[in-house]
Amino acid sequence: MTKSILVVNCGSSSLKLALFDENEKKIASASAERLNSNDASARIDSDERIVALPKGADHKQALQVLVSTLRERQMMPDTPTSVGHRVVHGGETFREAVLINNDVISAIKDCASLAPLHNPVALAGIEATLEQFPDTPQIAVFDTAYHQTLAPRAYLYALPESYYRDWSVRRYGFHGISHFFMANEAAKRLDRTPATTSIISAHLGNGCSITAIKDGLSVDTSMGLTPLEGLVMGTRSGDIDPSIFSYLCSRGMSLSEVHRALNHESGLLGISGQTNDMRTLCDLADHGHEPSALAIEIFCFRLAKYVGAMMASLNQLDALVFTGGIGENSSRVREKTLSHLGLLGFGIDADMNEHHGGYSDGRIDDTASRFPVLVIPTNEELVIAREATRLAANV
Ligand code: ADP
Repeated sequence: MTKSILVVNCGSSSLKLALFDENEKKIASASAERLNSNDASARIDSDERIVALPKGADHKQALQVLVSTLRERQMMPDTPTSVGHRVVHGGETFREAVLINNDVISAIKDCASLAPLHNPVALAGIEATLEQFPDTPQIAVFDTAYHQTLAPRAYLYALPESYYRDWSVRRYGFHGISHFFMANEAAKRLDRTPATTSIISAHLGNGCSITAIKDGLSVDTSMGLTPLEGLVMGTRSGDIDPSIFSYLCSRGMSLSEVHRALNHESGLLGISGQTNDMRTLCDLADHGHEPSALAIEIFCFRLAKYVGAMMASLNQLDALVFTGGIGENSSRVREKTLSHLGLLGFGIDADMNEHHGGYSDGRIDDTASRFPVLVIPTNEELVIAREATRLAANV
């Protein structure tokens, strides 16, 4: 029988499944949303039909229903060859993907205090697939692992050192699976090897982060202890003066209200007062909605400042890479961001940018640009499938 790799991605209230064949072709995918609520819903991506879920279904129930639906429709074999799980936080324990065993499960539980919304649901997904496929190798791939090559100067905050020693307060970085994919894909497109290629990778989705990659390794990144730090995001503030926290508390907000505001009511949504969706913001700005135009301005200006900051970690730059829903699709964001970076020698070709770098290699820089600028679609599922195949081969 041919090999198949199941990729499981559990978000705080969502579940995404993807099935790859041995040639890295995606053969099926399915998803569930609004889990643990009365509106929980699920679907197989190639199919219009809604897959019924019990009211309030959790990750485990959704996984069971989707797997049995995929099997019934003969879109998936009874047992996949391996299963790869996305896990958000691997702390300092995991520097790379690992085969899951009891020790790994306990270590992921230990990291849950650093990612209370994400690691418990990843564990629920792992437990559910272990139950369904007890004899199949299961692999955990971490969003933080790629950034474990950061040096102390990049990962330590300027705080009393006991906070790091006693409470693990440091910059961990996220989106590592996507940034790793960019390091490899950019090298391929530039006809170079990853180990000698240095890039700045900007992952701009609902969450946004930027990473300096030197000779294939992450050396600095914008997200921190949690995914709140750094760039302006859909609903997250990114960098703010930490004193804003206590100031808002002094104005009567509780700690959890401030936390909620910074994570869920800020960023593009907060500034525009309308939406966290970049596409809608661009439409609103085109129709003269000034707060939306300002949200896009602030987003791009912060991003440009971070491109400059990331250059401090590199002694060569082979490409600036845009990815994620916004990075891949918004010519306006790319153009506006690069308009701040002329002094550093970045130049963009308006026509190539408009075509989203659609000419084979994804390049959008103009002939005068000091550095190549690329648009590369991310593929985190493929990275997880590859890691699962690699590690399962040794079982
Ligand atoms: P997630 O982080 O949830 O995976 P995505 O990577 O899918 O998110 O990115 C979602 C963002 O991408 C949204 O802000 C969306 O508006 C934006 N986006 C998608 N397509 C376009 C487009 N054509 N133009 C501008 N923004 C877009």
